[in-house]
Amino acid sequence: MADSKKYIREDNPLPNDMEVRSSSDNPPGLSDELLNIAFNFLNQACFLTDSNLIILRSNKAGDLLLSNNSDSACGKSMQDLIIFRNAGSAEELLKLVKNLSGALSISGQSAVSARHLKIDISSIILHSEVYYLFQVIPISSQTTETIGIGLGISTMSDEKTLLASDFQEFTQTYAENGFLRTIIDSLPHPFYVTEAVTHKPLLKNLAAIKFESTLEFVHCFMNEKPENCIGNPGSCALSMVNSSTTPVRIEHEFVSKTGENRIHEVFAYPVFNSHGSMQYIIQYSIDITERKRTEIEISEYQSALNNLLNNLPGMAFRCLNEANWTMEYVSPGCKKLTGFSAKELINNKKIHFGDLMLEADRKSVWNEIQNAISRQRPYKVEYRIVTKNGITKWVLEQGRGVFDQIGNLIRLEGMVTDITEGKNAELQLKNELSINQSLAIIGLELLKDDVKPERVANMVQYYSRLFTGSDFSILITPSSVEQGSFLYCYEDKDDGNLSKRVKKHEQKDESPESLIDTLLKSQHPERINESGIKLKIPCVTRGEMTVDKLLSVPAFINNEYAGLIILAGAKNDYTKEMEGVVQRFINMFALYAFRLKAEESLQLAKQKAEESDRLKSLFLSNMSHEIRTPMNAIIGFAEMLQDRELKIDEKDRFLDVIIKSGDNLLRLINDIIDISRIEAGQLKIIYSDCYLNELFADFEISFNRELSRLRKDHLTLYVQPGNSDTDFAVYTDPVRLRQIITNLVGNAIKFTDEGFVEIGYRIKGDKIEFYVRDSGIGIPADHQRLIFERFGQVKEAASRNLSGTGLGLTISKNLVEMLGGRMWLDSFPGEGSTFWFTIPLRFGRHRLNAAQESDETPQPKLDLTGKCFLVVEDVDTNYFYISSLLGKLNGKVIRATNGIKAIEMTKNDPSIHMVLMDIELPVMDGYTATREIKKIRPELPVIAQTAFAMMGERERSQEAGCDDYISKPIRKEVLLEIISRFI
Ligand code: ADP
Repeated sequence: MADSKKYIREDNPLPNDMEVRSSSDNPPGLSDELLNIAFNFLNQACFLTDSNLIILRSNKAGDLLLSNNSDSACGKSMQDLIIFRNAGSAEELLKLVKNLSGALSISGQSAVSARHLKIDISSIILHSEVYYLFQVIPISSQTTETIGIGLGISTMSDEKTLLASDFQEFTQTYAENGFLRTIIDSLPHPFYVTEAVTHKPLLKNLAAIKFESTLEFVHCFMNEKPENCIGNPGSCALSMVNSSTTPVRIEHEFVSKTGENRIHEVFAYPVFNSHGSMQYIIQYSIDITERKRTEIEISEYQSALNNLLNNLPGMAFRCLNEANWTMEYVSPGCKKLTGFSAKELINNKKIHFGDLMLEADRKSVWNEIQNAISRQRPYKVEYRIVTKNGITKWVLEQGRGVFDQIGNLIRLEGMVTDITEGKNAELQLKNELSINQSLAIIGLELLKDDVKPERVANMVQYYSRLFTGSDFSILITPSSVEQGSFLYCYEDKDDGNLSKRVKKHEQKDESPESLIDTLLKSQHPERINESGIKLKIPCVTRGEMTVDKLLSVPAFINNEYAGLIILAGAKNDYTKEMEGVVQRFINMFALYAFRLKAEESLQLAKQKAEESDRLKSLFLSNMSHEIRTPMNAIIGFAEMLQDRELKIDEKDRFLDVIIKSGDNLLRLINDIIDISRIEAGQLKIIYSDCYLNELFADFEISFNRELSRLRKDHLTLYVQPGNSDTDFAVYTDPVRLRQIITNLVGNAIKFTDEGFVEIGYRIKGDKIEFYVRDSGIGIPADHQRLIFERFGQVKEAASRNLSGTGLGLTISKNLVEMLGGRMWLDSFPGEGSTFWFTIPLRFGRHRLNAAQESDETPQPKLDLTGKCFLVVEDVDTNYFYISSLLGKLNGKVIRATNGIKAIEMTKNDPSIHMVLMDIELPVMDGYTATREIKKIRPELPVIAQTAFAMMGERERSQEAGCDDYISKPIRKEVLLEIISRFI
């Protein structure tokens, strides 16, 4: 009989001389050797120690776990192999263990591998000696393989609760089977030793007994179609070992009576006797339910991780810290980021990651990373990579160094993300900011009082070149002085020198086919991204040049061409964006041009105002002369007429002067009224048929009369109608046409002392061209524009003391334009002048009995016997004038002093033949009265006497129903002519 001391001294882990008495329930043949085999086959590390924790026996799993080189742990102290957490020193541990009754679970660490361990200690008392059984389970590992084992532990601790309580009883029961029996019983897994042939169980441990008692049925995974196994839970494994005679491992699902499903890994080992035939089968099963679940969880976790890595906006990486960035691992996102697959990048299979990096960025990135890892800091760097397709991308790399225990850098790991979009937006924003700053700088320049075109042009060109990467620029702007025929060019040389050259160039010299012409004509920006473009800019010193790539951008202000910038020689193609940027700069120049123009027109307006002021002062002084002269004459000679002893011829002379002076005064007033109405837009053109030849015949008589009145009979008057048809009628405003010609002829007579005055017209296409020619003093070229201005007179002419207001031509020109034509002149000083004007040719109604009507037989003296005239007039002198005039011709004259009275009188007195209606009347005005009278006696002629030609009396009198009008002061001939027409 062997005692325990014997084992202590025994070095051999499998002592053959161990004497084990068979227990009564042990089947015959279960030997100590068999138990030895079983002990060694256990995949759980087991150590048996004496009371001083010196290892007496260890199994193979134990040696592997805690010993170097799988040496046997026998003879070593447990304290040397394990660093116990709960116990600081050997004494403490001994104290802990000695107080142990049953089982104890503590944690520790392997002294060799630093693996974390769970240690279950059980005390065994045999032959009054105390022994300890250490079951050691590793709980920390870096490999997934051990996760299952780690999880198995939790199951074991569940089982252990039961074991702990039942341990004593079983220890007693199996005490005579010695240590091995105890160890096997203390195993948390069901453990069987069966007879190989009969499958009769020779040994079952406590776990097996407990397991079988809770088992409802087995679901065997070995069957193709899962079926429930009945009977021995290990029968499948046993029969497999029987047939294969090799160890087997299978998985079963066991369903307990409480309905709980658990998956077991069942191991079965054949044990052969010395004859080589299979004698026993050792079988044990380990609950791997948790491990399975964990495996599923891990695979789910891994697929989620893969999913995550795949969907990362970039790639995760692990690489060596070397300039090539040799990748040990890259996540699948690298394909999307770089165009290369993970396989192509890992270990530089196809390309080095470092080679993807833009050359320009490489050095700074390397330095930054080295700097960070030297201080063991994480790093963040931005750089550009060129993808497989040649696209440049901005990336952000965030990473850190991975170091070993002694601080040596092993590798780098981190993440590379695509930030192209954000980076581009950021760059664009920066660019936009600097463009705005540049525009602001130019803007400030534009606000300066002494802003110079060349400075603005240089700035515009400088920034345009800067933002487009161009090495040549030129700015062309139309001259503001010479309309269209000259160009100002601001040239910049490609050396960046902002020197300015201003040259004037005649555009017509250019060949019409040249590129510059096309660009100048174009209303839009032009981009030519080609090389070898021939450009001939005449105003540039270099003349013809060849440039690579060209961008031209014109600027317009109020649809008016304001300038053109041409840029050339950029490295990259000109883009639409660049076009927009340049447009903003050239617009600044256009703005400047606009300012210049505004200043110029302001200057012009100022000059004009000054000129107009000057002319006005001149006019006023003229006016006082023009008014005073006739007024003096009228008053002076009228006073002289009071002299009763005056001779008849003297009297006539005086009267003549008075009449002439009155005429001049009247003409002056008419001119002022006309010009005011024209300027106020109140003068209206009234169209009717105008018999031109009749008008010209009339002119012949009246102008000849005028010549003799002015004592200029020595001048010859030529009248040259352009048409012999006396019925020839034009549709125009005859009154205004007469006024224009009368004005021109009046001037011709006034400024001609010798020779002739000629008037005529001719039909030219759709126009009639009139002319008034004279052989007078002529007008110097530099005055020919001035005379059409208001109050404009040639000084020399004025100095000749010829009367005039300087309004006649202004009025005439305006009237011509209102009639739809234009006026101009040819004149040479000393030779004479020809004034030309046109009106549109619109035919009037042809008069059939023209001959009869146009018969200009002198009117017989009018006899108004039996005719009654109602003169509506509130001013006595006016009434007195008309009544004496009509009385002399035997007419009967009655008077009404206001409109109401006039209506009453016409109503009550049917003998009235005509009404001469004043307009400005008290009580009721002339127009209202006319309307009423016309209601009562529509056939009764009403002639308006208007004083304020300016108010558009002609038009208003027509509207009120007046048959004609006569303006005050009333001229005898005119009044009689009108009366003769109606009576
Ligand atoms: P006015 O004759 O009342 O001064 P106008 O407007 O009719 O005003 O003429 C303006 C000026 O033009 C005249 O003062 C004169 O200097 C010049 N002028 C006009 N017609 C002639 C002409 N036929 N010959 C020479 N000078 C003329």
